Amino acid sequence: MRMLGRGLLGRCPICGQRRLFRLWFSLAERCPRCHLRFERIEGHWLGALGLNTIVSFAILFVVVVAGLVLSHPDYRMAPLIAAAVGTAVIVPLVFFPSSKTLWTAIDLCMRPLEPGEATSAGTSSSQQERRRPEDQQGARRVAELRNPMRSERSRGFRGE
Ligand SMILES: [Zn+2]
Repeated sequence: MRMLGRGLLGRCPICGQRRLFRLWFSLAERCPRCHLRFERIEGHWLGALGLNTIVSFAILFVVVVAGLVLSHPDYRMAPLIAAAVGTAVIVPLVFFPSSKTLWTAIDLCMRPLEPGEATSAGTSSSQQERRRPEDQQGARRVAELRNPMRSERSRGFRGE
């Protein structure tokens, strides 16, 4: 939930870093603090676009319904259309940065952070430290698996 809140505010979902955008629209490739790559997979921003579209339509729907209710019983179409068009233009622009970081946060909820994806961000750094010995053990196992092969090969060469 914390990640979603940060994403909604246009902040890094992992460490909460602010000021990730230049000129409102261009998101930094990586977080300057925890080095999280916001575009986690190819086509990642399609999700943000979809999210923005859904939210914009939802707000547009609310504005239109509220307009109809407020202007009841004498429906005046001109202000209603103006409000709807204004909403349809402004909301996607305003929501654009948040849609990107929020989508990254949603993505992180669905596919948790992998080791090495972000650094020195509270919990993730301790997890990485814990994983290091396991990696070393894994490397040893791989070496053990390879060594018999080598020895067999060398025996074979000797036999020839
Ligand atoms: Zn960060």
